[in-house]
Amino acid sequence: MIAKTKGIHDTKSFVGALSAVRYIDPKYVYIATSNVRCGQADVYIKEGDHVDICQVIGMRHGPFFDQPIHATISGTFVGYEKHYHRNGKLTDFIKIENDFKDTMDKSCQKRTPDEIEELTHDKARMTELLKETANVGLGGSSFPTYIKFQTDKKIDMILINAIECEPYITADHRLMLEFPYRVIDGIKYVMNAFDCKKAKICIKSKYKDIKEVYEKTLKEFPDSGIELACLGNYYPQGWEVEMIKNATGIQLNPGELPSNRGIMNFNVSTIVGIYKAVKYNMPVVKRFITVTGNGITTPKNFRLRVGTSIRDLIPMCGGYKHPEKDKIFILGGPMMGVSVPSDDCIVTKTVTSVIILDKEEYEEQPCVRCGSCVLSCPVHLEPVQIMNAVKTLDKERIKKLNPLRCIECGLCTYSCTSKIQVTDYIRKAKLIAKL
Ligand code: SF4
Ligand code: SF4
Repeated sequence: MIAKTKGIHDTKSFVGALSAVRYIDPKYVYIATSNVRCGQADVYIKEGDHVDICQVIGMRHGPFFDQPIHATISGTFVGYEKHYHRNGKLTDFIKIENDFKDTMDKSCQKRTPDEIEELTHDKARMTELLKETANVGLGGSSFPTYIKFQTDKKIDMILINAIECEPYITADHRLMLEFPYRVIDGIKYVMNAFDCKKAKICIKSKYKDIKEVYEKTLKEFPDSGIELACLGNYYPQGWEVEMIKNATGIQLNPGELPSNRGIMNFNVSTIVGIYKAVKYNMPVVKRFITVTGNGITTPKNFRLRVGTSIRDLIPMCGGYKHPEKDKIFILGGPMMGVSVPSDDCIVTKTVTSVIILDKEEYEEQPCVRCGSCVLSCPVHLEPVQIMNAVKTLDKERIKKLNPLRCIECGLCTYSCTSKIQVTDYIRKAKLIAKL
């Protein structure tokens, strides 16, 4: 079923080979006051105030937790502006004008090796640190890392998700190649915290360049317990259930947490975020992203400040390839990302990529009951039936078809012969099922 997706168009081999352009001195950065998990905020600074890098400038509030807001450059708070967020919504952003002095908040301190040993073997302190530094799942999930650290389950294996299985995205690919020692140190810190002796770095087997670098680098740490796991070259290999099955042989039950089976998994960017928090007491202020798609002249990878405007990056990619054509802008991958109406959007912590495509007009055709969507679904749903139930607003039938198990992988839309946006119907079904 999933093997059917092996033919998804993928530009990784070309763009993944491009070193990241360092763009860490934008004139302005824009820091979101809210996100999908925290809808409100208190901002601690007023217009005209000076801020340092990593300074806490506010607190986002959500139904389950609060999240500190950090400045990502030093400079002056000049006001609020609305821009598109990773969640596709127009959002208030705190605008900071760069003073180009890169002054750091006094809370940022490099820890000695002894301090790191002591800290990383204390899970309660690690949990507190990751809460204070607002570390979240940087592969796009935005799930707070400290909550994962609160488990009381015994963890036997840490899995690092560096599969980056959606087409086009190569941000983690560049991070893996450019900072292997940070990745390995970050994994060791997490292993210490969970008192866990084994870890696997999961990649697609076709990533030969990553394989070569890590096989060589891991030889320097023969007793680390860290191995490389080369997994399948298909989508959604990076879905945690699929990754865990292929890396460990363990098949999770629907809705079961990996920690229940002694497994804890982290995206590789999150691991480097943990590395920074432990080593320098810093939140995530920079990240790798990919700007790509047939609408841009020269696709590139960047390493940049969180808060950078996507508009700043377009000229650095040679501008739009066909400026006269309408564009589609997707934040995140083409399968699970969110489309925004323009390039007026901001790189938040969880933006892995911006895909810019020339808009092609196509007409949705009636469903021909070919069953492709059913065959493609990795969680064994019947997308066509769910779609039909949504169209007739049959709530009982929707609930029976269990749309809440959908992981929004987008494969039903991708595989639809009639070009129907099937996944959109499943999203609607999820909302209806929750009512
Ligand atoms: S988006 Fe949901 S329903 Fe569609 S194939 Fe993926 S998991 Fe199945
Ligand atoms: S793939 Fe499209 S056309 Fe085929 S059954 Fe599913 S919804 Fe209908």
